[in-house]
Amino acid sequence: MAYLELKNLNKIYPNGFHAVHNFNLEIEQGEFIVFVGSSGCGKSTTLRMIAGLEEISDGEFLINGKRANELNPRQREIAMVFQSYALYPQMTVYDNLAFSLTLEGVDEDVIEERVNKTAAILGLTDYLDRLPRALSGGQRQRVAVGRAIIRKVGIFLMDEPLSNLDAKQRVTMRSEITQIHKEIGATTIYVTHDQTEAMTMADRIVVMKDGYIQQVGTPHELYFNPENLFVAGFIGEPPMNFVKGVLTNGEIAFGNQKINLASKFADKLNGYEGKEIVFGFRPEAIELGEQEDSYKISCNVELTEMLGDNTNVYITSGDQQAILKVDPHDTPEMDSDITFSIPYGSVYLFDGETEKVL
Ligand code: ADP
Ligand code: MG
Repeated sequence: MAYLELKNLNKIYPNGFHAVHNFNLEIEQGEFIVFVGSSGCGKSTTLRMIAGLEEISDGEFLINGKRANELNPRQREIAMVFQSYALYPQMTVYDNLAFSLTLEGVDEDVIEERVNKTAAILGLTDYLDRLPRALSGGQRQRVAVGRAIIRKVGIFLMDEPLSNLDAKQRVTMRSEITQIHKEIGATTIYVTHDQTEAMTMADRIVVMKDGYIQQVGTPHELYFNPENLFVAGFIGEPPMNFVKGVLTNGEIAFGNQKINLASKFADKLNGYEGKEIVFGFRPEAIELGEQEDSYKISCNVELTEMLGDNTNVYITSGDQQAILKVDPHDTPEMDSDITFSIPYGSVYLFDGETEKVL
């Protein structure tokens, strides 16, 4: 096991593109960290700098307190799983699993014992004689994970390992990887663009955008206390609803209604009169009808999407749109006029210019 320190890491590619800016993070021994963000935000670049596959342009990377910038991938004792499983097609599952140990010159009987144990953990015992082409996508991905965990290294890196699987396999593998992490306890960094994977798997999530860290926190912290508009909109599905407007007489417009914010949030809104702010609320935080201690909004139901455990209701009020998540038994009629309530305690306010939470 290992603890990692990333101090002011920067990546500037040879073509001059600055892909990662001042990345700072300390990762505890055994922690499961997820880097999440849209495609191109610098997740893989950061992971590859940690793996030793990409030179660190500036800053320092430490493993167990020792500078590791100059170590090659093998010296870092890191195992990595990629999106493409990169199995050897002409080798059986057994040989794919055994390969790195054979290279290291490990004894045959030790290899056999470790292959059998790894196969048992991953449910691959019955497939050891097969070639990769005779496996399903999920089974192949398991072999790829097995090849990484069999090495018993302290650091485990995974770059979008589930993105080639179908939705059902992804859910299964998600919990399997979490389970394997609990068993072997290696310090893990997992990269994904999928906020659900981040929320369900991580001890702590690092949200990235355009090469910058936006926020680091537990799934709970990111969901309940987003530090800015980007994180608020990225974490949660469907995303948080936003109402943008200029604060006028302590109010902003929600469609053709006015929401009086100043009376409830005077302390936060000090100095914001005449400035642009953003009012946010989560689809699942609302209640239908008129409730106490809430902003009451009248709107029209444009569309309802019945999902089984809940219904997404797409509403408009004037030119403002929003999504509400309601109990399927309370699904309103399409095109009907309804009123819903946003509890004061579920309101988020952001500076319209800096996009920071108030
Ligand atoms: P992510 O994994 O979050 O999708 P990447 O780390 O792969 O993003 O890429 C971050 C940014 O760096 C992207 O804009 C990408 O185009 C750019 N990039 C990646 N590799 C190179 C390279 N070898 N040379 C120049 N730019 C690169
Ligand atoms: Mg990537």
